[in-house]
Amino acid sequence: MANPKSPNGIKKPVRSKSGVTPLTVVLAPRKCNHGTCIYCPGGEKVPQSYTDKSPAVMRALQLNFDVRKQVEARLNSLIKMGHPTEKIELIIIGGTFLQYPQDYQYDYIKGCYDVLNGVSSSTLKEAQKINETAKHRIVAMCIENRPDNCSIEDIKKMREYGATRIEIGVQILDDEIYKKIARGHKIKDVVDATRRLKDAGFKLGYHVMPGLPYSNVKKDLEKFRLIFDDEKFRPDQLKIYPCQIVEDSPLAKIHKKINYKSYTDEEIKEVLTEMIKIIPDYCRVMRVMREIPKEKMVEKAASTSIRKDVEEILRKENASIKEIRMREIGFNSLGLKTDTRVKTIIYDASGGKEFFLEVVNSDDVLFGLLRLRFPGEIFLEELKGCALVRELHVYGQALNLGETGKNSQHTGIGKLLLSQAEKIAKENGYKKIAVISGVGVREYYKKLGYNLDGTYMIKNL
Ligand code: SF4
Repeated sequence: MANPKSPNGIKKPVRSKSGVTPLTVVLAPRKCNHGTCIYCPGGEKVPQSYTDKSPAVMRALQLNFDVRKQVEARLNSLIKMGHPTEKIELIIIGGTFLQYPQDYQYDYIKGCYDVLNGVSSSTLKEAQKINETAKHRIVAMCIENRPDNCSIEDIKKMREYGATRIEIGVQILDDEIYKKIARGHKIKDVVDATRRLKDAGFKLGYHVMPGLPYSNVKKDLEKFRLIFDDEKFRPDQLKIYPCQIVEDSPLAKIHKKINYKSYTDEEIKEVLTEMIKIIPDYCRVMRVMREIPKEKMVEKAASTSIRKDVEEILRKENASIKEIRMREIGFNSLGLKTDTRVKTIIYDASGGKEFFLEVVNSDDVLFGLLRLRFPGEIFLEELKGCALVRELHVYGQALNLGETGKNSQHTGIGKLLLSQAEKIAKENGYKKIAVISGVGVREYYKKLGYNLDGTYMIKNL
């Protein structure tokens, strides 16, 4: 298929449409400590939960999973495609990173910073210091993780690496199903991980899996509602991947025996349409449907156009959609009104209070957002007494640092949101505010009166 090319000459512009350019690296194959979840392929020759036909894994396989080579190759191809590469979101996928040997983890992360810096440092800390002003800065870092790998010690490590966003596999909030599908954790682990991650300022994504064995459409929707009805959950982002029978997974071997059938396209559409209607303003759907090649499916693969079909159904129904992605300016640039204002939504979450600040126009098109948290329980010394900024994001096509924007990037929306957050924190008695910033954004916050304390940028109010 030909690469879609935008009028500004960027191939596949959607990659950098949300403000930063993602760069994905893949872990070497390794089995998860608890065993293998019933639906999960991989683990021997390819990383757990991926197949050897996924593009990122195919690239990594060719490079023998060497992370330095992966970063170099990816960076070069992003440059070739015309993407801005000064602001990078590093995404680490495949298996459970926090379960890899400590030395591997440390070297893996340092390797990413080193390649982007163009120089090899003697320590991770030194590499991060260099990256603060490097040409290719890591402005955000995402690690895929399990709910039972988010202890205080794990969280300290993730902060040491510079992670800002964590995705955890939640699938369905049901202990009985967790047991039957060999997830190896319980709902309580999801609750604890959610609270700790938010109280350390992380942005948090859940992976949700409708259509698992022992579930049905009714149960999926009931458990999905719980994610937002119960203040113990309420993630910032979602990936919704309906269960499919993938080659090399335990499910591929036993699906007949347990009489399992994956959802039909119609059932998937029904469940996704209803789920999207439930999602509140503060949550973003990062992706629906997993890109698993047809030849890796044991039964007929679900149609790849389902997301479009679902959007079409929602449009026809004239449903009021609140989730973030469908309201972003990057996806809504035609006939844009610029009568913007800051809208604030306040909600309880995991023992704390969240202020979701968004710059929107009168059509509810989103230009930027900020997540401010009054934490429940602080366990990191440097965050004592702080209100937390968990995310500051300005939407629109990514620009390089110093470039002035016609769209919402670099037009003062970030500063406006931040000053609003500082004001709210101060009015509520906070003397300090802390931002979980990627290493590459520290310079930005320094200019706004923030100083590095531990791994956070902190300002006295
Ligand atoms: S935790 Fe994730 S990677 Fe590990 S077996 Fe389960 S689905 Fe696969």
